[in-house]
Amino acid sequence: MNDTGIDQGETRLLIGGALRAAADGGSFENIDPSTGAVLGVCADATAADMDAAIAAARSAFDHTEWGTDAALRKRCLYQLQAAITGEVEELRSELVAEVGCPILATWGPQLDTPLRDALSWPAEQIDEFAWVRSLGAKDAFGGDNPSMREVWKEPVGVVGAITPWNFPVEIILNKLGPLLAMGNTCVIKAAPDTPWNATRIGRLIAEATDIPPGVVNVVVGTDHGLGAQLVADPRVDMITFTGSTATGRTIMRSAADTLKRVFLELGGKSVNLFLDDADLATQMGSVVGICFHAGQGCAISSRLLIPESRRAEGIEIALEALRNVTYGDPTDPSNLMGPVISAKQQQRILALIDTARDEGANIVLGGGIPEHLPSGGFWVEPTVITDVARDSAVVRQEIFGPVLVVQTFADDDDAVAIANDSIYGLSGMITSGDLERAKAVTSRIRTGTMGINGGIWYGADVPFGGYKQSGIGRQCGVEGLEIYTETKSVAWPAATS
Ligand code: NAD
Repeated sequence: MNDTGIDQGETRLLIGGALRAAADGGSFENIDPSTGAVLGVCADATAADMDAAIAAARSAFDHTEWGTDAALRKRCLYQLQAAITGEVEELRSELVAEVGCPILATWGPQLDTPLRDALSWPAEQIDEFAWVRSLGAKDAFGGDNPSMREVWKEPVGVVGAITPWNFPVEIILNKLGPLLAMGNTCVIKAAPDTPWNATRIGRLIAEATDIPPGVVNVVVGTDHGLGAQLVADPRVDMITFTGSTATGRTIMRSAADTLKRVFLELGGKSVNLFLDDADLATQMGSVVGICFHAGQGCAISSRLLIPESRRAEGIEIALEALRNVTYGDPTDPSNLMGPVISAKQQQRILALIDTARDEGANIVLGGGIPEHLPSGGFWVEPTVITDVARDSAVVRQEIFGPVLVVQTFADDDDAVAIANDSIYGLSGMITSGDLERAKAVTSRIRTGTMGINGGIWYGADVPFGGYKQSGIGRQCGVEGLEIYTETKSVAWPAATS
């Protein structure tokens, strides 16, 4: 343990079943965003490491029984869940330290929630999944020589999994569970900002499961070109990516050269919409969601939509809720938010707030760096911005910080138009005194998930993903299993069956 109070994390990559240093022996520093202190180091993978990882995943897919041995896959998924659970407290401390997420988030979506079902639900589904679908007998040309037809589902092959830093374990587990259950092999290219959770999972795979060598490879490095290499390599059949829309576009362009399947989970600019019959006084607590993990969640609602007729009341209630948010040291269970991930991200958020100020918007709460927190950390105050133009950058762009933008609407049609006036369509929340009215408005909003009157849609069995430029495809649920399969249609003379 060093003076940050955190043990040195796993430094090694997992390639072909072996825990290894980088090919050139290089390493990089893992930074605590709360203090700016160095937590320790991690192997800094090179292009040669990525090449070896892809080769190992290809070989494991082509030359082992992984894709066909469902019982092995099921056993391994449960083993991995048990192994991670066995080190859950170490992983929790490490996540809080390297991600800067509040510890309370680890009791939910950062760790405990996905650990409960992200691996085990896909494992259970292996026996339930429609691997074979019979279409019955038919003569395709209208004659009397029918064929028996079936549709078979098979693994896609080698999957490149590229992950971000904001909910790193959640995202890795929600990729690993479905893709392994469906029989694929993979290379995980984890975000360099938060390396140790990924390398820990790599070590546990190697040491505590029967997952054959090469089925899962874990590569971390500071060079974003490692991800680009994975996308370009012809030995990789599919990319599953979670990250920014900008990187998603680059990946899609590059994947075109080898016509790879791409599954993209990208950014969002979701609304928290209160219809005019909502009880703002009792139902507006959800606005504090913007501070959950300092707003660094793709599905967090960052646009507050309130009726113009109730503007003053709505803003006052929102401000009151956000003034009461406690934040700071992420190890303190009473804090809803810690720092943002990096100095770069902090500067980007503050610059966007400044742009809004310059455009004439009102920063009615926060807007700067809090004075009461240690100077080395990457803090941003909970911030509320009103009087914004619809084409303002803070309305258009994903800020990925604790910044709530308030917009008002005239009626339900106007609310729908404003909600849909975005390149994104990932998530959202709606509140109304009338459930049926809320559902009717929800059906008109172009978004992949929506919580109605406080409803929570999250879980391994629930498809999650975006409309429009928030992504392509769905993670989790049956849709999230199917995406990791290929489809083969076969037929034989019915007379011979
Ligand atoms: P990012 O796009 O910068 O990086 C994500 C990953 O992509 C990292 O591992 C990075 O190394 C890699 N990468 C960077 N350039 C690449 C390239 N050219 N080719 C291949 N890989 C490349 O995103 P981030 O800053 O790490 O994460 C924050 C973003 O992720 C936000 O926009 C957020 O909304 C989004 N996100 C989306 C979801 C979702 O499910 N929709 C979930 C979490 C985060």
